Amino acid sequence: MDRTTRTAVVTGGARGIGAAIARRLAGDGCAVAVLDLDEQACAPVVAELEAKGARAVAVGADVADEQQVGEAVDRVVSALGPPTILVNNAGITRDDLLFRMAATDWDAVMNVHLRGAFLMCRAVQQHMVEAGWGRIVNLSSTSALGNRGQVNYAAAKAGLQGLTKTLALELGRFGVTVNAVAPGFVETAMTAATAERLGVPFEEFQQQVAARTAVGRIGRPADIAAAVAFFVSEEASYVSGQVLYVAGGPTS
Ligand code: NAP
Repeated sequence: MDRTTRTAVVTGGARGIGAAIARRLAGDGCAVAVLDLDEQACAPVVAELEAKGARAVAVGADVADEQQVGEAVDRVVSALGPPTILVNNAGITRDDLLFRMAATDWDAVMNVHLRGAFLMCRAVQQHMVEAGWGRIVNLSSTSALGNRGQVNYAAAKAGLQGLTKTLALELGRFGVTVNAVAPGFVETAMTAATAERLGVPFEEFQQQVAARTAVGRIGRPADIAAAVAFFVSEEASYVSGQVLYVAGGPTS
């Protein structure tokens, strides 16, 4: 697949699923802006992509900060050209049961997932509209269907599905598709933190999840990157406003 003329922005690209998406899109021929809170943390991924011959840049920004988002997208334009692929992957969890959940933990999760995706989409869409071509992929989650201890995260991930479908309607006429990938359990620092919160060794936690998953294993970041690669491909131009659950089985 030749995407040498495409510039992609992957938020939360320094590690986990975002780093796998950055690798996959670079491998498919994109120039990739690896955006994360800490610019230094993006450097190893950028170095890896460059070593494989891709064009890449590290960009430090908080996706929930309007000014930082504007400056970050301007930097991408200068370094790699106008972005026409956006993957809203940056995410955090602040899990707790409702009666114990602090309002600050509700706000933090809403800000990164929903405000962050909104700000990034708004900043990048002008470049897509000018190009008459664009691809936005938002990272939702099986938690959007409900998950005990994650009322903030589940609401944010369900909200991202509404954002996805609405932007698909608004941006379709400009050649821009908007879709969501909703992963099940994927082995990353995020799920390691969940295991720690539950007091279960990560290895044991993974085995438990694998045992109740139809395909008998947990997800890997590359599984999610493969789904993103489909949505951003040329041949997915008639697929928009969709949510693809990548969870090793039916989700409910
Ligand atoms: P991860 O390993 O925790 O990586 C998330 C990345 O996002 C981190 O590098 C983090 O930076 C960055 N980030 C956090 N807040 C940010 C902000 N305000 N601005 C910019 N970057 C920010 O998580 P992951 O497991 O790869 O998850 C990636 C996405 O998939 C998330 O949206 C997550 O909700 C979703 N997801 C994951 C799973 C799973 O099982 N892992 C399942 C379903 C959905 P810091 O390290 O500095 O915090």
